[in-house]
Amino acid sequence: MKNLELHCTIILVAWTLLIVILERIFPYRRGLPIFREGFWVDLVWYTLIQSFVLKIVIFDWIIYPLDQRWSLSEWKLLYHWPLWAQVAFFLVTHDLYIYWFHRWQHRNKILWRTHEAHHSVKEVDWLAGSRSHSLEILINQTIEFAPIVLLGARPEVVPIKALLDACWGMFIHANLRINLGPFKYVLNGPEMHLWHHADELQVYHRNFATKLSLWDWIFNTAYLPGRQPLKWGLWYPFPKDYFLQHAYAFWRFDFRRLEENPRWQWYFAWRQQLMNAIKQIIKSSYSPDNLPVSRTHQKEPAEAL
Ligand SMILES: [Zn+2]
Ligand SMILES: [Zn+2]
Repeated sequence: MKNLELHCTIILVAWTLLIVILERIFPYRRGLPIFREGFWVDLVWYTLIQSFVLKIVIFDWIIYPLDQRWSLSEWKLLYHWPLWAQVAFFLVTHDLYIYWFHRWQHRNKILWRTHEAHHSVKEVDWLAGSRSHSLEILINQTIEFAPIVLLGARPEVVPIKALLDACWGMFIHANLRINLGPFKYVLNGPEMHLWHHADELQVYHRNFATKLSLWDWIFNTAYLPGRQPLKWGLWYPFPKDYFLQHAYAFWRFDFRRLEENPRWQWYFAWRQQLMNAIKQIIKSSYSPDNLPVSRTHQKEPAEAL
């Protein structure tokens, strides 16, 4: 299992590099910078910190306690299926669920508040998909992973499914000009999902699919006009800070006045100092003096924080 997790991490890093390089060679929109607005918020807060915390909340506080109470996984209902069939089963069923839930989020004013952060990126790229309100992730990933554990699937299904989610999420948001040809009727790609992020009235209720575009074609919500969107992101102002983006879902306040407030600016500067201090601690714990020689090459990930 440890080996599988290591392999998944290596594949994810390699996939990220591949997508970033392909974005440079075959861009959908020319001239998008790598370090676009909100890049660090998406990478540090949404991708690293939020994912780490939510993994603990979803598995250790919700799914495993539920399983301890009901002992459903002991039935091992799916355990004896081939591994590929288990992964395929959860991939298709969850994808159908998320299509309908996503549609509902665009219709329902309360649920929209959990989804608007995802639409707030204007320069959509490989990293943009990670920007999702923690409440949205909490709902969707609990519904995604609870059945895998409770129906007694093989434990390998969880990291494989998480890897597929991460890679596919990166792909559909990538600033990539790619034509899937006839596969576009089954598989979702940037061609359709980038349109979902457009600020154009005719697509506010179109292209809801995540992995399988099939749902959009079956349920008549596909939109592919053969041109590029003119405007991107939300049609109203939205905060840039991670915590303000979270708070804004519950309380509509004048965030621009707050951002100009000296106390907020002091707090923001203090938070950056805190992040720098954490970075220093991580760097020093990876220093050559504290590590066996063979591990010194691991300094690079800490630099990226
Ligand atoms: Zn959406
Ligand atoms: Zn998206």
